[in-house]
Amino acid sequence: MEGRNRRVVLYGHTALRTRARPVTVIDDDLRRLLADLRRTMVEQDGLGLAANQIGETTRAFAIDPRGADVDSRPYCVINPEVVATEGELEREEGCLSLPGIWEVLPRPELVRIRGLDETGAEVELEASGIIARAFLHELDHLNGQLLIDRVGPTRRGLLAGKLREIEDRERQECG
Ligand code: ZN
Repeated sequence: MEGRNRRVVLYGHTALRTRARPVTVIDDDLRRLLADLRRTMVEQDGLGLAANQIGETTRAFAIDPRGADVDSRPYCVINPEVVATEGELEREEGCLSLPGIWEVLPRPELVRIRGLDETGAEVELEASGIIARAFLHELDHLNGQLLIDRVGPTRRGLLAGKLREIEDRERQECG
């Protein structure tokens, strides 16, 4: 598989709190980044991965539809935007940048997004269930948001110790 398996940055890294910049040109640098995103997501068993999570503040994310038993290959979406949502579902959600944290969060059940595919062509994608949740989770990343921002203050307080541990780990890995 093409691309490099990159380090996934953890809570505490500034890229996770930075709003990613829209892509304006599809060039070799971007294509390399997209290949790295797909490769890193697959190697590290993610259902999705946003560019911020490999330290790049570029508006793109990767999705692995095989995580939802859909028989198609991992792909990236560039400059994604939500067009419509429907319904609501509460499900447990985790994040490669927040290891060990799983929170039950409400998210729309169905979502339609639009953006560009890896060739720069406009695409509209509709998803339900865990893929819809992955789209919205990765969109949050591109806006500098994390799933812990969506939990209530009491729950957030209970996570404080774990978050500090993750931050320490990030400082060590970062060197
Ligand atoms: Zn995440």
